Amino acid sequence: MSRGARSAAVSVLLELAATVLSTASALATDDYTLPFYDPSVTLSYGVDRDVALNRQLDWTGQVWNDGLTHYGRVYDQHTGVDYPMVLRSEVAAAKDGTVVDLEGGFGTTQFGQFGNFVRIQHADGRQTLYYHLASAADGGIAVGVGDAVVAGQRIARSGCSGNCHGAHLHFELLVWSTSAEAFKPADPLAERRWTTWPGRVPFDAAYVRESNAGTEVIRRGATITHWVEFRNTGGRTWRNSGTTSRVGLATWNPAAHASVFRASDWPYSWMATALDATSVLPDGVGRFTFGLKGSPDVGSYTESFNLQSQGVHWFDYRRLGNYYVPIVVSNTTE
Ligand SMILES: [Zn+2]
Repeated sequence: MSRGARSAAVSVLLELAATVLSTASALATDDYTLPFYDPSVTLSYGVDRDVALNRQLDWTGQVWNDGLTHYGRVYDQHTGVDYPMVLRSEVAAAKDGTVVDLEGGFGTTQFGQFGNFVRIQHADGRQTLYYHLASAADGGIAVGVGDAVVAGQRIARSGCSGNCHGAHLHFELLVWSTSAEAFKPADPLAERRWTTWPGRVPFDAAYVRESNAGTEVIRRGATITHWVEFRNTGGRTWRNSGTTSRVGLATWNPAAHASVFRASDWPYSWMATALDATSVLPDGVGRFTFGLKGSPDVGSYTESFNLQSQGVHWFDYRRLGNYYVPIVVSNTTE
């Protein structure tokens, strides 16, 4: 796929992301990873969300009704997303789960109805499907029914078995439909259930250091400056602006807790600061600088914080743990 097509793909994803922001739940399960490791793999087709038949949408946004192949977003009644990749490429589980079904009897490029596949049940009630896998002789499927798998674990190698006209992985996200009493395909791109780094959850962090790891002593009515650094151990770039991937340091537990130590430089009473830098890549370290005002009564306090990705996703606080600032408000008035 050409570079132009790739950038067009990115803009399409951003558009999709913008349209679903308002409807996404606060505690979103946006912790699916890409189902492969090779960063050069790109999307060729997505899920057809258009009920009209004989209609395709290419990367430029043009609609076609001529029945020919147009590389782009969707073709009729396509229920998954297609990732072109060379035969026997590694395929990874998109999320922790249990293997509930598989087929491994087809040849790597043997044409047939279903071909080789793996189906995984996830704790959030969804399932993922990985189609067109290589044969067992080619190491096509590395798991068995009943096996527990973790996000990013290699489960198979890609092939072109089943209804396949070129080596690729067909990946599906399935959601249970109570009305149909069956799993129905959903569009993982529309719901932003992705990280950009295979094997990683989108937002995760590890504490690195802070300006004062001991107790902050603040004179009553005075404001001190505190900073803390976290390593970006998730799969998405952190940003300090915008509606997607903006990361801030917020008071936590409960999430809407307004700090009694709010200083004048806080953007919100429950959010101490956004990321200092414009952006921090995965594996980079981001600093968060904020003021603490010693306004409460004299005494010892702890203020708890956690990282938040703006608008949609709270960080997994079980992985990060609460970040505390022990505070002593001294008896001296400024
Ligand atoms: Zn497909």
